[in-house]
Amino acid sequence: MDPVRFYSSIIKRNIKRPEKVEKLIVRGLSIAQLYVSLFKDKRLPESLQYLNAFCIKSVRDSLAEPQNSAWVNIFSPTEFLIALGVKPLFTEAYSSFMSGFFIEDDLIDAAEARGISNTLCSYHKTFIGAGELGILKKPRFLITTSTACDANIPTFRYLSNKFGAPLCIIDVPYKYSKEAVEYVKKQLLDLVKVLEEVFKRKPDIDKLREIVRTENRTRALMKEYLNYVGQKSFIPTMTFEMYMLFASHVFIGTGEVLNFYQKLLRDIRNAPEKRGKSVFFVHLPPLFEKNFKEYFNFSEKYHIAASDINYDFLEEIDERDPFGGIAEKLILSSFNGGIDRRASRIRELVEKIKPDGIIQFCHLGCKQTIGGTFVIKNLAAEMGIPFLYLDGDCVDKRNNQEGQNRTRLEAFLEML
Ligand code: SF4
Repeated sequence: MDPVRFYSSIIKRNIKRPEKVEKLIVRGLSIAQLYVSLFKDKRLPESLQYLNAFCIKSVRDSLAEPQNSAWVNIFSPTEFLIALGVKPLFTEAYSSFMSGFFIEDDLIDAAEARGISNTLCSYHKTFIGAGELGILKKPRFLITTSTACDANIPTFRYLSNKFGAPLCIIDVPYKYSKEAVEYVKKQLLDLVKVLEEVFKRKPDIDKLREIVRTENRTRALMKEYLNYVGQKSFIPTMTFEMYMLFASHVFIGTGEVLNFYQKLLRDIRNAPEKRGKSVFFVHLPPLFEKNFKEYFNFSEKYHIAASDINYDFLEEIDERDPFGGIAEKLILSSFNGGIDRRASRIRELVEKIKPDGIIQFCHLGCKQTIGGTFVIKNLAAEMGIPFLYLDGDCVDKRNNQEGQNRTRLEAFLEML
């Protein structure tokens, strides 16, 4: 039996015993981290081996130290948490790992049994279900923003009330203006005051500037990386494009992520020239969908070029005014505001990378993806690039119509 499946069956047998399940998850992640560090997958370049271990460790650490962790959405200004040494845990990461443990169905069922709508995004249902079953331990703090996702605020509010943990919601205006920057900046200054009270630690402005400086250096490397993406076959599996979210969002500003991008740039320069066809993903790639795994993971014929969610902000943050600079970043994200903002960022990326096709996987319950499908479809048609959209679920494997997906995906790939 596959060892992950075996481990998962032990977790599943104990799903009603939260203390045990929580320990099994943390232990499983520790073993996985040790395993990927000792037995490096030779098919992966050094940068991705490093990222693999880093992502597992960061989820493990936040679960192992709930009293020093904060739950966040991917657009949260985590620079302030990093400055305080607090460990962030984001919904998409936790739920993807639970799907990796094959227990997302139990967690989703637990959330739905408590009255959570079955049409809520499964990243959120999995997270809530783990909270309902007591598998997730009370965090010290929660932060979310109003950016992009209509599920974040209700989920974070619900969990904050359930656990009695303080929540900060950053309201991000759709349009950029001086007033909008001041409005968000004030919320960030208030956030820091609350963090200081909760964690009993004073954030140091020089430390924050250093984090922003590291973030700017990292983003410069990210932009350089993009110069090579169109010419090389590089990202070997969909999991790695998802892992990039750790580096492009929640942990950007850390030394580890800077180190990762330095390695990444070295590796992509040395990567083989592009072979086969490349596909650009809109939003998130479906890591657990059987057909996508079969056609894209470690494939010579098809490869993952990039996904727009990793490149929603590519500017510099003002180091002299980190609060104002981070406020600007939140407002200028291409995922903030109308779909036209996302469409123009997708256009820029596609013009640069020149993929052979674009796939939008419409994750069940994600209204912001499904609602924008025709705008992206028209954009692809205007640019003369084949476009495919499919419905399914990036977390809950039960919601993927594998037969239908296979027919449409194969037809699309053949056309490429
Ligand atoms: S997939 Fe959509 S609904 Fe789910 S967390 Fe992401 S943005 Fe929100």
